[in-house]
Amino acid sequence: MTTPRRAPGGFPVVGIVGGGQLARMCAAPAAELGITLSVLAEAEDASAALVIPSAPVGHHTDVEAVRAFAEHCDVVTFDHEHVPDDVLDELVRDGVTLHPSPSALRFAQDKIAMRERLTEIGVECPRWAVARTAQDVEAFAEACGGWPVVAKTPRGGYDGKGVRVLASAADVADWLALAAEQGGGDGPLSGGVLLEERVDFVRELAVVIARSPSGQAASWPVVETVQTDGICTEVLAPAPDLPEGLAEAATEAGLRIAGELGVTGVFAVEMFQVRHPEGGHAAYVVNELAMRPHNSGHWSMDGAVTGQFEQHLRAVLDLPLGDPTPRAPWTVMANVLGGDYDQLYPAYRHIMARDPGLKVHLYGKDVRPGRKIGHVNVSGADLAGLRERAEHAADYLQGVVTE
Ligand code: ADP
Repeated sequence: MTTPRRAPGGFPVVGIVGGGQLARMCAAPAAELGITLSVLAEAEDASAALVIPSAPVGHHTDVEAVRAFAEHCDVVTFDHEHVPDDVLDELVRDGVTLHPSPSALRFAQDKIAMRERLTEIGVECPRWAVARTAQDVEAFAEACGGWPVVAKTPRGGYDGKGVRVLASAADVADWLALAAEQGGGDGPLSGGVLLEERVDFVRELAVVIARSPSGQAASWPVVETVQTDGICTEVLAPAPDLPEGLAEAATEAGLRIAGELGVTGVFAVEMFQVRHPEGGHAAYVVNELAMRPHNSGHWSMDGAVTGQFEQHLRAVLDLPLGDPTPRAPWTVMANVLGGDYDQLYPAYRHIMARDPGLKVHLYGKDVRPGRKIGHVNVSGADLAGLRERAEHAADYLQGVVTE
């Protein structure tokens, strides 16, 4: 079915561009609230298309496909940040209600625009610069006190795929050449290469916030995100042993960014906790913004009174927000990455028998090595025990352990 069937009783249709797991995980709270979802899916078997009956197939770069999709929706939101500007502009011209708005979304689409804006509003960031030549890269490394420095593609990166640690300018020669080729166009490197000091961080944190068009905002506790090879593998909610005042400062920064940038919907701020704040600096620097439900908020589906997917629906519909308070002292989320086994269901018997308190969320995706195919959540009072349980279940689903 391509045209969404609206539930009787005055309920709206929320359209989501992109049929990944984030769109899929909106389905359960939408069903509970009687809200109809429609998803513009990349393929008939996209993760969200398997559970949402209204899932026309179309690409997010195809203006006509996106316009035709939006026509049947009361509000349109996103599964990812890759819808191009010209498509967003057309939707605005058509009078489509978009959350987040294109003017906010561009700060999550373009890391150079994000760094400029955060610097303007005084948010703590790593030292950064834009490079177009090898000399620019060398000058930046010198300003940072030497190598290594970090290079990023401003647009289109995910899960660390557009991030490199440089030992010399030669390590980024290919990106500089692409930037020169793309200059003036709209390629991922047309604005140049983003350089950042390599932050010697203690650990990575995230703040997830929801903000509605009328300006109501709610935040979940600051979490720790554990990364392996540039991919988030585990989230500890709340982040254990935060230095005094850091949770408040990081949350305040997140809320301020959301307000200043006019973000609507669920919004994540990825941060680095840093070791030695000096001269009044905060004990964190902001790494990255995501304007959608985020991996660092998956714990809230089972661990908070209101999970991030329900909250996102409330926010984009400008309904009053739900209570984000945790239901337990700790919740641990472990991502399930694609491993050696393409048959996942047989693992259910073992992990469900071993741990009835564990919650499993799989995304209906084909198993490919390293691909995020699901996650597990477990809540309680003993953090070390919860980590062991979550990691075991994820490892078992991945085929890393067999008992
Ligand atoms: P992506 O958008 O692909 O997720 P990020 O900018 O979030 O890329 O970076 C991915 C990972 O690379 C981060 O989680 C962090 O571990 C590392 N990283 C990114 N920027 C820096 C930096 N300036 N200093 C040190 N490590 C960094």
